[in-house]
Amino acid sequence: MIRLHNIKIPLDYSAKLLAGAAAKKLGCTQSQIAHCEISKKSVDARKKNDVCFVVSIDVTLRNPQDERRLAARLAPNAGAIVEPYAPPVVPRLKAAPAVRPVVVGFGPAGLFAALTLAESGACPIVLERGQDVDTRTRDVRAYWENGQSAFKTTSNVQFGEGGAGTFSDGKLNTGTKDPRGEHILRTFVRFGAPKEILVYAKPHIGTDNLRHVVKAMREEIIRLGGEVHFGARMTQIIQSNGAISALRYENALGEHELPTSRVILAIGHSARDTFTMLHESRFSLTQKPFSIGARIEHPQLIVNRAQYGDFAAHPALGAADYKLALHLPSGRSVYTFCMCPGGSVVASASEEESVVTNGMSCFARDLENANSALLVGVGPEDFGSAHPLAGMYLQREIERKAFSLGGCTGKAPAQLAGDLLAGRASTSFRSVTPSYKPGVVMGDLGKLLPDYIVTAMREALPLLGRKLRGFDHPDAVLTGPETRSSSPVRIPRGEDLMSVDCIGLYPCGEGAGYAGGITSAAVDGVRCAEAVLGSLSV
Ligand SMILES: Cc1cc2nc3c(=O)[nH]c(=O)nc-3n(C[C@H](O)[C@H](O)[C@H](O)COP(=O)(O)OP(=O)(O)OC[C@H]3O[C@@H](n4cnc5c(N)ncnc54)[C@H](O)[C@@H]3O)c2cc1C
Repeated sequence: MIRLHNIKIPLDYSAKLLAGAAAKKLGCTQSQIAHCEISKKSVDARKKNDVCFVVSIDVTLRNPQDERRLAARLAPNAGAIVEPYAPPVVPRLKAAPAVRPVVVGFGPAGLFAALTLAESGACPIVLERGQDVDTRTRDVRAYWENGQSAFKTTSNVQFGEGGAGTFSDGKLNTGTKDPRGEHILRTFVRFGAPKEILVYAKPHIGTDNLRHVVKAMREEIIRLGGEVHFGARMTQIIQSNGAISALRYENALGEHELPTSRVILAIGHSARDTFTMLHESRFSLTQKPFSIGARIEHPQLIVNRAQYGDFAAHPALGAADYKLALHLPSGRSVYTFCMCPGGSVVASASEEESVVTNGMSCFARDLENANSALLVGVGPEDFGSAHPLAGMYLQREIERKAFSLGGCTGKAPAQLAGDLLAGRASTSFRSVTPSYKPGVVMGDLGKLLPDYIVTAMREALPLLGRKLRGFDHPDAVLTGPETRSSSPVRIPRGEDLMSVDCIGLYPCGEGAGYAGGITSAAVDGVRCAEAVLGSLSV
């Protein structure tokens, strides 16, 4: 099969046009082509009067010998022969280990780690503090509808089956070049995700699909001999001679001890009590830079127009996205993060009396507003202390202040972009209706966020408005705080992916500081599972 790259095609292309474009690039006739299909697709909107798709096309010729001959004539970046996708080869154990490996946390990292272990015959045991996805969906909905009175520390947007990724936008693109990335996408498709995620350059699964997919993956892990325990919070790591010997966990029935020699610690960035336990148990934790800011909401139509010009309403184009970044003369970086086209701003707290924002969308991305985090980078110099958990304490302080400014009901403080720029409190929203549930209290984000954050946001907004027309529209609504964009700590590990403090412990995923997003966390889960399997088979 030949994969051709960088072929421009119109938005309303047909199968015939595709074959014609492939034949032209290859220098053959259409009748020589047995089959051709798009394998990657992105939108090229650099010229607003000529928005088109740029695609890679996989071509199979009727005569296989022609493939080598024609591919050899292509420039290196124009295309080449490719082998069909082959899943990674993971060692299969001859027999299930006498002491079963344990995976703590069932977000993308833990989910993929457990699946990899289960498929290799290692019969993992998963401990997840939150609830299964159906119970969790009910709990989260109740919180969004009713506010603080319905909030549960044990079942929320951060904790439960699928982890922080379940109620997400479900963007699956990643900056990592690890070949396991394709395996992650194909695994999602195997468990029910739409096939389009294999083709789009910026794949998006949507929270509605994710909920079914994570459940199907859990069922497969159990079918292969794994166990998944919900409502099971790991509370202690027990060591003997520097190696892990057991875990202590608690559930509705009480406290338990689980003997084990291999643990994948995939606890996410919000497991504050677990970070504290690790610190108190003398595990190494280091401070890590992260970002703080607020969610900014615009009408999706403004974004579509800014990105696609006259093509904004073209049916082949979905809701447009954006990604903006700049460095201020002060040295601060300001950027948009986790942009959710046609989505909503969601309440994402995991602790009592806190307000945390994030963004979510369904596969269709068809809601009225676009939202994105507008973030300012913060580092150890802003934490005010050398304590390893100082970044986490800063997050908590802001989230509690937000709860208080929101009237102690779960509502979030919000401000119009125009008022933030003018330095005055907002009293009501205008043309953009904030989507955050259980609601917002309009006011002054200067009372919520540290001065250096608000100053940087003020400086950045007009500059970002030059990059994306309408971004600094005075009616845009900023709802805050966004504090959980990444982990405030790192749990150091060696080249073998094992903790520097404890043999048999594998810090994994976003919480340990080795991933940022669903796909990279899942990739790290697979890597850690491979490391565990490698250590079990020797
Ligand atoms: C609303 C929202 C939208 C997002 N949108 C996107 C997006 O579009 N694209 C993207 O790439 N990323 C997105 N993210 C980020 C993404 O979800 C995370 O990067 C990813 O989930 C990290 O995976 P993880 O497995 O490392 O950790 P997590 O997903 O956080 O999972 C950790 C799990 O460990 C459990 N746990 C913690 N402590 C314990 C303990 N002591 N015992 C037992 N279990 C424990 C938690 O309950 C949790 O389920 C979003 C996040 C949120 C909250």
